[in-house]
Amino acid sequence: MKTQTLSPAMFLQGLQDQGIAVTLAGDRLKIEAPRKGMITPELCEQLARRKAELIAHLSAPSISDLPPTPNGDICQCQRPATCYSDQGDPFCEDCRNQASRTQCAASSALVRVTSAPFFLQDVAGITEWTQNYQSLVVDLETTGIHEHLDRVVAITLGKPGKVAILDMRPYYGLPAEEQATWREVLHYLFHRDGITWIGHNLKFD
Ligand SMILES: [Zn+2]
Repeated sequence: MKTQTLSPAMFLQGLQDQGIAVTLAGDRLKIEAPRKGMITPELCEQLARRKAELIAHLSAPSISDLPPTPNGDICQCQRPATCYSDQGDPFCEDCRNQASRTQCAASSALVRVTSAPFFLQDVAGITEWTQNYQSLVVDLETTGIHEHLDRVVAITLGKPGKVAILDMRPYYGLPAEEQATWREVLHYLFHRDGITWIGHNLKFD
């Protein structure tokens, strides 16, 4: 099997095609196969060698669940579009990831920053990313110290050393209808069973 050059996503997909599931259990890799003999010494060796990058891949919020690739649609930068925003606007990959990439480059602990046109998809990715965690730290960044006048600027959530930021600044300029959708996905994210939220400023909602 020639797997050295495969990206983590393709490597895992190849295993999945054989029925072997590799998932994250806390900070370890969990391997499940339909039959015992399928996890060969060669596969073990590959998994061990690629452990760090596989864990990094599995820990990052997924952006692979985007809507179907637009056909012939053009991004605002005139390049071919590869995805649609929450509102159905065509985006190329560069423009789609621009905001998140710039901000994540600022800190290695930052795995994802939401961008306004993709807020719903980004929150869905973060929801999926946090699925296996039993406890998460959450922190709110607000505009000031007067709690009734404050606006939430950003919500940080994750584990020490690995966090996602929900950029809430665009929320206040949105039409009421879109605000309601944002609140809905946030409500879903923060009200799942089985997760203990650790925070000192949990007054939203
Ligand atoms: Zn573009």
